[in-house]
Amino acid sequence: MSQRGKGAVIGIDLGTTYSCAGVWIPKKNRVEIIPNEQGNKITPSMVAFNDTEVLVGEGAKNQISRNPTNTIYGNGNNITLIGSESSKFSDVKRLIGSKFDEPQVHKDMESWPFKVIKGPSEKPSIVVELKGEEKKFAPEELSAMVLKKMKEACEEFLGTEVTDVVITVPAYFSNSQREATKKAGIIAGFNVMRLINEPTAAAIAYGVDNMTDYKDKNILVFDLGGGTFDISLLKVDKTGGIDVKAVGGDTHLGGEDFDVTLVNHCIKEFKKKHNDDISGNPKALARLKVACEKAKRDLSSTTLTSIEIDCLYNGIEFSTKISRGKFEELNSSFFDKCIQQVGRCLSDGKMQKEEVDEVVLVGGSSRIPKVQRMLEDFFNGKKLCKSMNGDEAIACGAAILAGRLSGFEKEKKQDMVLLDVTPLSLGIAVDIVEIGEKDCMSVVIPRNSSIPTSVKKIFYSQVNQRTARISVYQGEGVKVKDNILLGKFSLSSLTLGSNGDSELEVCFTIDVNGILLVSAEEMSSGLRNSITITKI
Ligand code: AMP
Repeated sequence: MSQRGKGAVIGIDLGTTYSCAGVWIPKKNRVEIIPNEQGNKITPSMVAFNDTEVLVGEGAKNQISRNPTNTIYGNGNNITLIGSESSKFSDVKRLIGSKFDEPQVHKDMESWPFKVIKGPSEKPSIVVELKGEEKKFAPEELSAMVLKKMKEACEEFLGTEVTDVVITVPAYFSNSQREATKKAGIIAGFNVMRLINEPTAAAIAYGVDNMTDYKDKNILVFDLGGGTFDISLLKVDKTGGIDVKAVGGDTHLGGEDFDVTLVNHCIKEFKKKHNDDISGNPKALARLKVACEKAKRDLSSTTLTSIEIDCLYNGIEFSTKISRGKFEELNSSFFDKCIQQVGRCLSDGKMQKEEVDEVVLVGGSSRIPKVQRMLEDFFNGKKLCKSMNGDEAIACGAAILAGRLSGFEKEKKQDMVLLDVTPLSLGIAVDIVEIGEKDCMSVVIPRNSSIPTSVKKIFYSQVNQRTARISVYQGEGVKVKDNILLGKFSLSSLTLGSNGDSELEVCFTIDVNGILLVSAEEMSSGLRNSITITKI
C-alpha cells in the first residue's frame, strides 16, 4: 500500500460502460456518490478524438453519432464491431496490461475496426486520429483519461484537491492488468492506495449496509456487467470482516455479447427482408447496435419489443419484432456459461450451494429475467437480493475502503479485515522428464487461495545442471506458453548431489497487498535467491 497523499480520498468504479466515484463522509457516516458536470452520478467510460479536441465522458457520448469511428467506448455504438465480441472501450479494458503478441490480443484484433500496433515494451498501442493527425495511445493512457475526468468532477464537487484513490478492477484481472490499471491511476494524477476486486467492493457495500443482524453470512456476488462477468464468494462476519473464499467469472462475457447476437440476428433479418447486406456499413451498424441494446433492456421488463430505424441503409426503413423468448434462445449458451461459472466458483470455495445465505446481483446485465430465473433455480428457488443499486454499489464499497484505509474512521479501521484471494494460479515452469513434457506449469499457489499465504514446494534440477532458472508464471494453462510470465531469476553454482541433481525448495509468499515474493534455496548448500513481484 502506498503512502497517503494530502487531499481528499475517493473510491472509483472504473467500469467498462460507465464509471462512478464516491467519497466517504465521516460526519454523515456514509458514502456520497459524486455527480459529474451534467449532474449524473455515472459517467460514460468513453473517450472521443475529433478535429479539435479530446472529449471524455458525457462530451464523448454526445457526439457519438457524428464521430463514431473515433470514439472509444464501452457500450457498443462503435460500429464496425458487429460480429466482434464487444466495443472499443471494453476492448481497451481487456487490452490493458496485455502484451501485443498474446494470442487473445490477436484473436480480438481480427474483429476490431481500429488499428492496434506493437508499441513500446511489446505492449499494444491503439491508433486514432486527433486534429487530423495519427496518434498512438497505450490502453492505460485511455483509461487514465476517464480517471482524470472523474478526479476533476470530484475536486469540483468537494472543492478540494483529490489525491488518494481506491480503484476497482474485475476479479479476474491478471497481475499485469492490475499493474496497468494502477499505472492509469498514476497517469491521471492519483496516489493509488489500493486496487480492489469489483465484487468484493460490492460485498463491502452490501455488508456495511446489512450488518444489523449480527451473524456471519456467506454471500455470493453475481456481477454481470457490460463486458465482464465476475463472481465472488465471501464470508462476511458480524464485525464487518470480509473473507473472500473464491472468485470466478469470465473477462470476455457481458451485456455487449448479448447486443452483438441481437445485431447479428437483425443483419440476417435485413438480408432476408430486403436482400441487402448492411454488415459493411459502420453508420448503419452503429445505429442498429444502439437500437439492439435498447431492445435488450426493454426485454427485461416486457416480453415483446420492436426495433424500428428510419433510413437504416440505402434509404430502407428497418422494422422487426423481437420476443423475450427469441432473445433468450439467441443467448442461451452465454447464460449457461454464467451458471457453470457459479458452480465452479462454489467448488473452488469448497462451499455447497445450500450454505450460501445471500445471492447479491450487481451489474446491468444481471437484470435479465432469464439470468435471474436460472440463478434462482440453481440455488433451489432462493430469493435473489436485487436491492443493491448496481450503478453505485461498487464505487460505494471502494469509497468505504478508501475512507478506512485513510484512517478517517480510526475506530473502524481495525474491524474491517479484508481477506482476499488470488484470482489465478501461480507457479513455475518445469520440464517433466519422466513423460518427456517440456515447459509445463507446476502450480505452487492454486487460484482462489486466500491471501496472505506462503507455500513451499521441492523441485529437482536436471542432472549436471549447475544453474537453475526459475520462471514465475500466472494462469491456468497446462503449458507455460498459455500463461503470463511474471518474472524470472536464477540460482547458479549449484552443488550437485550424488544423483547429479540438486534439491531446491521454492517458496511463494503473497502478502496482504498482493505482493508476491518467490525465493529458491538449494537444500544442501543453503544457496538462496529471490524475486519480488508487485501485484498492486
Ligand atoms: P454495467 O457494466 O454494470 O454498467 O452494465 C452495463 C450493461 O448492462 C450493458 O450491457 C447494458 O446494456 C446492460 N443493461 C443495463 N440495464 C439492463 C436491463 N434492464 N436489462 C438487460 N441489460 C441491461
